[in-house]
Amino acid sequence: MHCAQHCGPDRATSEAPVHITRRHGPPTSLVCGVRRPHERNLRQQILKFAHLCHERGLLVAKDGNLSVRLTDQLILCTQAGCHKGLLTEDELVIIDLKGNKVRGIGTPTSEMALHLACYERRPDVEAIVHAHPPMCIAHTVAGVSMAQCVLPEVLLTLGSIPTLHYERTGTNTLAEQVGEAIDKHDAVMMDRHGAVCVGKDLLTAFCNLETMEHTAKVLLAARQLGAVQELPADEAHALRTMGLERYGGPPSMMPSHCTNCSGCGRPSQAGLGPKADFTVARLSTPR
Ligand SMILES: [Zn+2]
Repeated sequence: MHCAQHCGPDRATSEAPVHITRRHGPPTSLVCGVRRPHERNLRQQILKFAHLCHERGLLVAKDGNLSVRLTDQLILCTQAGCHKGLLTEDELVIIDLKGNKVRGIGTPTSEMALHLACYERRPDVEAIVHAHPPMCIAHTVAGVSMAQCVLPEVLLTLGSIPTLHYERTGTNTLAEQVGEAIDKHDAVMMDRHGAVCVGKDLLTAFCNLETMEHTAKVLLAARQLGAVQELPADEAHALRTMGLERYGGPPSMMPSHCTNCSGCGRPSQAGLGPKADFTVARLSTPR
């Protein structure tokens, strides 16, 4: 998709568009095969949700990154080292599915490998928000699982929230691990790092992030007040089934395979804490 004529590596987005004529309808302005209004709309959405992430305290300083599919072959993403609360259109970059820059100023975010791993695994994913929500991170630092069946809205929308074991930021190993987990989940936590939330659009990915941080706050407050009381296993199972019917979800996220999560107070070797292999919501076996 690289277009040397119009999309040199350091050309800004203000360059002249290429005019093509559709077989039907008026001429459409294209740059690198991207419809201008479509790109403009997605750029504005990235700015809006980046600003919201910062306003809501879901990331600070130059943390986090956002991306969206621009076409089948191109991703629009945030530049490395930009402040998300002050993000401007100049700080967005277009890359191909291998991570090569196609258009824009600056370097794509160093964490783009994990975005690309998610897009590769999940053709249904159109947008990704990676942020550093503090309460979620605190859970991972304390080694406390967030994969507990406590809140109905979480079971309806996300199922469980797995925590992946620690890997260094920006590495391919981390990207591979995230891609594998995103196969089964729309929202995952990286140990001592942050959240990766995906969706059919930026709003959905952002909502998943808000739900994660809200859940972390509720779990923390519940522990301070007493103990976390989980929903009965059959109710958790019914809610997850209802959620999959209502909102859909990753294909492997089926409640019938609700094992080895151990978020429900049955810690197992494979279950509790950062080493967890959280398949779905919780163990369905009685305590
Ligand atoms: Zn990060």
